[in-house]
Amino acid sequence: MDETTSKLAFDTDWQYDPAPESTDHIRIDEQYELFIGGEFVAPKEGRYFDSINPANEKVLARIASAGKDDVDRAVKAARKAYKTSWSKLKPAERGKYIYRIARVLQERAREFAVIESLDGGKPIRESRDIDIPLAAAHFFYYAGWADKLEYAFPGKQVAALGVAGQIIPWNFPLLMAAWKIAPALACGNTVVLKPAETTPLTALKLAEVVRDAGLPPGVVNIITGAGDTGAALVDHPDIDKIAFTGSTAVGRSIQKSLAGTSTKYTLELGGKAANIIFADAAIDEAVEGIVNGIFFNQGHVCCAGSRLLVQESVADEVIRKLKDRMESLIVGDPLDKNTDIGAINSSAQLEKIEDYLRIGQEEGGEIYQSSGTLPDTGYWCRPTLFTGVSQSNRVVQEEIFGPVLTVQTFRTLEEGLDKANNTPYGLSGGVWTDKGAKIFKMTRAIRAGVIWANTFNKFDPASPFGGYKESGMGREGGLHGLDAYLELS
Ligand code: ADP
Repeated sequence: MDETTSKLAFDTDWQYDPAPESTDHIRIDEQYELFIGGEFVAPKEGRYFDSINPANEKVLARIASAGKDDVDRAVKAARKAYKTSWSKLKPAERGKYIYRIARVLQERAREFAVIESLDGGKPIRESRDIDIPLAAAHFFYYAGWADKLEYAFPGKQVAALGVAGQIIPWNFPLLMAAWKIAPALACGNTVVLKPAETTPLTALKLAEVVRDAGLPPGVVNIITGAGDTGAALVDHPDIDKIAFTGSTAVGRSIQKSLAGTSTKYTLELGGKAANIIFADAAIDEAVEGIVNGIFFNQGHVCCAGSRLLVQESVADEVIRKLKDRMESLIVGDPLDKNTDIGAINSSAQLEKIEDYLRIGQEEGGEIYQSSGTLPDTGYWCRPTLFTGVSQSNRVVQEEIFGPVLTVQTFRTLEEGLDKANNTPYGLSGGVWTDKGAKIFKMTRAIRAGVIWANTFNKFDPASPFGGYKESGMGREGGLHGLDAYLELS
């Protein structure tokens, strides 16, 4: 690129024309009830909360808040369905129901994508191309396993666990619901799922799909509410398995609650992934991978590549190219197809990110943010880079869950590896190099559940996902995801 074209590419005087996705094909009701025993029922205590569109702070719908009695109702419905219908069905029949859910999701993909972006703030490009297709793919994948479980675990007897309680976060609302529900049903369990309080809408829409797909009542129950609803589900005595994705702090409290009980659990918690660029990497591709790993989806990804480790000899080049690319990222309306970075999920999350921006500067880090205007209402954060930070800084050690990247350098492979592993987390990592041998060396030595080489944030239902250390325990996806919902003997 010569100087003139480079200037043109990053000149902020011109902008893309707006390309908004239409909303005339979706239906969001004013109020949503709890989905228990195959029907929508009002919460016993009559409490409701609002789900807000984080891009304009407007209320999208009133959502029922499940109290202890509602949680009990949902668990009882799931137990009854487990005993009387789901466990009695032939596995191939269970598979047919799960395929049906997958097909309906595909048919209604556009509607689900728009609602996901409205409720959670993520760019329509992400929800349309990643969240919804992957959610359908998970149902397809696990539907296929329903009648082949003995082939998945040769020589073993397989049996369902019973009733699974499932608690999910707000960053991939429908996809996390699919990760949890699809393998549980395929293995013959029934479920009570609680979506996050800021993003309940696509899970409630999924409840409609479950109902329309004709699943026996009570096989899937969806209850909404905040942390106390989640805690009541964890504490319920008739749950056989808890599957949780969320913060390490809540994961720890769940572990404490379940200590000494026979309830099985899997926990998928926080992360602070290193994305490591060696000098021999294809730098332009690596820069794009770094941007994809932390800035797209507002950094609301537990496996986000939030720590960049770059080999010293190419650090200046990488940082310069990163800054250029950050300048070209479009922050704004999640429903606009040109948008790269949507709205931060909630005001509380924006406050947390802003706290870290302050802390990083107080610790001596040098902050760089893209320029450009942000919308007047809604919750927004510019893509942010911290240079001049060290291993002990909080912004390097703690999960921020926003579009904030720290940059450190290294000289030797060993130094890069030490820095990559020097965190309490171990969910994911990335390596960028031209040399296959280096990839193998690094991927074997990085203590993380998923490591990408010369790419980042790629998912497939057949591939297991989960963490080391404080990033959790157990795996979801692939055969490992079946194991988590079965008793093997
Ligand atoms: P995040 O920081 O990503 O919001 P949380 O761990 O707070 O993560 O939330 C993830 C999910 O866990 C949400 O559905 C939330 O309502 C639920 N949750 C929060 N507190 C508890 C708790 N004490 N017990 C069970 N679930 C909880």
